Amino acid sequence: MNRSPTTATSARVPEPPRSRGLPAWICWLALGTALVGLHYALPLLGASETWQGMVYCLVSGGSAVAMAVGIRSRKPRAASAWWLMTASQVMFTAGDVSYYVVTALGDDADYSPLPNTLYLLQYPLMVLALMVLIRSRTPGRNLPAVIDAAIITVGAALLYWMFLIGPMVTASDMSVMERLATVAFPVMDLLVLTVALRLMFGGGSRGGSYHLLIGFLCLVLLTDTVYGLQTLVGDYVSGTWLDLGWLTGYLLLGATGLHPSMARLGDRQEQQPVNATGYRLALLASATLMVPVVLIVQFLQHGDFNLLMVASASTALFLLVLARMSGLLAAQRRLAMTDVLTGLHTRRSLQERMAREASRPGRRSTALGLLLVDVDHFKRVNDTYGHPAGDEVLTETARRILAACRTEDLAARFGGEEFAVLVPRATAEGLALLAERIRAAVADEPVTVGGAVRISVTVSVGGAVVPLHAATADELVQVADGALYKAKHSGRNLALIGPVAGGCDPADRRFRPAA
Ligand code: GH3
Ligand code: MG
Ligand code: MG
Repeated sequence: MNRSPTTATSARVPEPPRSRGLPAWICWLALGTALVGLHYALPLLGASETWQGMVYCLVSGGSAVAMAVGIRSRKPRAASAWWLMTASQVMFTAGDVSYYVVTALGDDADYSPLPNTLYLLQYPLMVLALMVLIRSRTPGRNLPAVIDAAIITVGAALLYWMFLIGPMVTASDMSVMERLATVAFPVMDLLVLTVALRLMFGGGSRGGSYHLLIGFLCLVLLTDTVYGLQTLVGDYVSGTWLDLGWLTGYLLLGATGLHPSMARLGDRQEQQPVNATGYRLALLASATLMVPVVLIVQFLQHGDFNLLMVASASTALFLLVLARMSGLLAAQRRLAMTDVLTGLHTRRSLQERMAREASRPGRRSTALGLLLVDVDHFKRVNDTYGHPAGDEVLTETARRILAACRTEDLAARFGGEEFAVLVPRATAEGLALLAERIRAAVADEPVTVGGAVRISVTVSVGGAVVPLHAATADELVQVADGALYKAKHSGRNLALIGPVAGGCDPADRRFRPAA
């Protein structure tokens, strides 16, 4: 049997060239922060509001320019989404400019049609931009993500209605135009919130640009909400700390466009299984608890005990049902992730873990190994001893594979008589050693079936490591499969690692990548 070591070649992905000096997005953030500082320093230096307004508009317009520069230089996928985002920010800037012009002319800009129309136009453009981005990342429907986004939005909408929109609609001291203008903003904010949540719940890779964009959206929504509450009681004054929310948002949006990861934010994402993580369930649960919260606030305002009883009962009912449902979900998930015959993980479980490991932020620095283990001539076992005996052999093989693994390794039944082991933080040498341990554990001791018959069983093993032998999870499986194929064709009962398959010599258990 040929166990002579051969070369384990590596298929490294070339790193993009790094530019020297500070990244553009950091430079923009530094410049923008200085401008924001200047904006707040100007009144202390005795400068007029006009100067302050000009600096404000410089930051606002600068972020649109930064975004445009980013698009031109990075040439992102779904460029139309980024241009729509730029257009949205241009509307924001136009609104800011006209706000300051109207104020300088001595009018009340808070209810002036021009700045308000321009500010309002920003929202549908941002909604469109996010929708194009979502479609580019994850084309097709994603009903769970839509429903999750809708749950949070309905919860938020209730709060908005009770404390912002409702009081605005019924406020007695506002004209119809003023009322429309103030109500339109929270409604638009809710629209942006829905689409932003859909983007967040849709899954896929998230780089710096993604986080900057979410930061921008959160800040603008939060600042808009506080602005709405302030206008309701009539004490909003421009140039105060509240403007810092929008200004910081502008800085984040400009950095979103300049960050290198923006080029790939619109890339099509691998379809990921729908997972209800504990974090997401908690978020959804807190949204559904908005109704009792509002009832409790009303009880505190009006002292009606019935409201308190309804709030308490609905909270208790909801939490009890949630506990029951999450128990059922966990049980179903366990079933779906456990192979009935061997008790190992299922192929689906392995694939989910592989996708998670592959998309982990620090994955490039920590390798991931995969072993494919196939029972040799298993059909003969079935033909000679019968199917139930074959099942016993599979169960015992699985037990021996599991015993050879470390606790952090994931052993799964990959197919009929084929197993797989996912090995985090693997080296080619370590993986070869594990492969050899598994091969020997099966071959060294015949399997006893039916309490009496001893059957000699062997396995062939193929393995590979990301990023040493493959760049992606799919390639990892292909390379490991190639090594397994080679092991089969080199006489079986053999463990080989890598594209040209180096191996671990069973004599001294040392990995030998050949020259
Ligand atoms: P090789 O060394 O090339 O892998 O040969 P092999 O006979 O192991 O491979 P082949 O793919 O020809 O046969 C695999 C067999 O495994 C065929 C199938 O009936 C059997 N098998 C698949 N799942 C089960 C199972 O759950 N229980 C039993 N007893 N047999 C199974
Ligand atoms: Mg086989
Ligand atoms: Mg097979």
